[in-house]
Amino acid sequence: MAPMAIATQNPTTGETLTTFEAHTSAQVQDAIATAHATFQTWRTTSFAERAALMHRAADLLDEDNESIATIMTLEMGKTRKSARAEAAKCARGMRWYADNAERLLADEPVDPAAVGASRAYARYAPLGVVLAVMPWNFPLWQVVRFAAPALMAGNVGLLKHASNVPQCAVYLEDLYRRAGFPQGCFTTLLIGAREVESVLRDPRVRAATLTGSEPAGQSVAAICGDEIKKTVMELGGSDPFIVMPSADVDRAAEVAVTARCQNNGQSCIAAKRFIVHTDVYDQFAQAFVARMAGLVVGDPMDDATDVGPLATQSGRRDVEVMVEDARAKGASILCGGRAVDGPGWFYEPTVVADMTPDMAMYAEEVFGPVAGLYRVDSIDEAISLGNGTNYGLGSNAWTTDPDEQSRFIRDLDAGVVTINGMTISYNDLPFGGTKRSGYGRELSGHGIREFTNIKAVWIG
Ligand code: NAP
Repeated sequence: MAPMAIATQNPTTGETLTTFEAHTSAQVQDAIATAHATFQTWRTTSFAERAALMHRAADLLDEDNESIATIMTLEMGKTRKSARAEAAKCARGMRWYADNAERLLADEPVDPAAVGASRAYARYAPLGVVLAVMPWNFPLWQVVRFAAPALMAGNVGLLKHASNVPQCAVYLEDLYRRAGFPQGCFTTLLIGAREVESVLRDPRVRAATLTGSEPAGQSVAAICGDEIKKTVMELGGSDPFIVMPSADVDRAAEVAVTARCQNNGQSCIAAKRFIVHTDVYDQFAQAFVARMAGLVVGDPMDDATDVGPLATQSGRRDVEVMVEDARAKGASILCGGRAVDGPGWFYEPTVVADMTPDMAMYAEEVFGPVAGLYRVDSIDEAISLGNGTNYGLGSNAWTTDPDEQSRFIRDLDAGVVTINGMTISYNDLPFGGTKRSGYGRELSGHGIREFTNIKAVWIG
């Protein structure tokens, strides 16, 4: 049977832009074989050689900033200004790993006397071919934050990107090739989700990383568990954004809007549940709702637009179902609450209050510009509600009280705790989740060491 074609659709209009022929299983086999062969030499290259190529890729990406930003916007609907910023962030990430990989992966000596050796150390050796299964929401950044450290560590990468962003997927392979990386260092597989299993089970593929939904993570982690292969899982989140009475409430409300609506509300680390102390609840709610209602929803190519369409029709349907469920069970819709009429998959920025635990959006992830508002009486209640989901990706707390800050840092059960700001990923800080948000870390030294064999070396 011929593989299904992969189509790219413009979420602003619904029209099909381009169709790609999916790779056949023979093409996938060739790609794995080439990657595996390339690894045998790539792993012996010096950090300096790898860094020179990575810098070249970063420079090319900067040159392409406008054109690739346009493709991102046309394929998945993010605003063009945020697409430009994402591409620029990717170039910075590439340079950061180019400049720091050697230091981060330096041999770690131990006291030789302690182990009866003349010399002993831990070495970070590359693993081999790593498969990355990636989502559409940050179609460059999710891939680059895997590929830059993986390639700098001496691994080679295979990319199975989300089926709705094939142009971004093809661009990334081309970028690394143009920069001079040997063929097989970074290869895009145009395959559907069903074809992933055979790649994971191939003995030449040594590890996998997945960023995406919980069901996708469960599937890939189960197969890799069966095969005893290392995985990193970056899954969903329903991050809390807690506001305490000592906070700058107006500033918190302003940042809350960006934290919720960045990327048209489709970010794993978007704040999704706004948990506000009763003393400042009304002040926060008023400022937050006014700003949410004032956002400009429209053509993502226009720099005046704040919120573009959702990336897929089914994604918008999921958001509609969750809001309708809350409405039917008695929630108050303070602004928005409907799909926008007309072409494209737009949804109004929405604030939902008076939620109860029987509503799906009380604790589940809403992947769109929809905020849940919760009132609490104490820090204990705020932390308990903040931790009251199956997720544990990012978390945000606003307070100027040092004791409260310490409580949040200690007690929020999440991979990231942000005080008086919104969760963002940085090259210098580890990024990842707890509970059903996944495991393993990306970025920083922790990220580059995930796909290494930590080799103990003992010399007598
Ligand atoms: P998704 O449906 O899980 O898709 C992500 C990737 O997994 C796509 O490449 C998809 O391929 C593939 N996939 C889906 N089911 C699979 C399966 N059973 N086996 C193997 N591969 C499979 O997620 P999405 O809708 O694109 O992205 C949204 C989700 O990603 C949200 O839950 C969000 O929170 C999460 N996310 C997490 C992070 C993080 O860092 N923690 C970052 C961004 C997004 P197809 O496209 O071909 O189906």
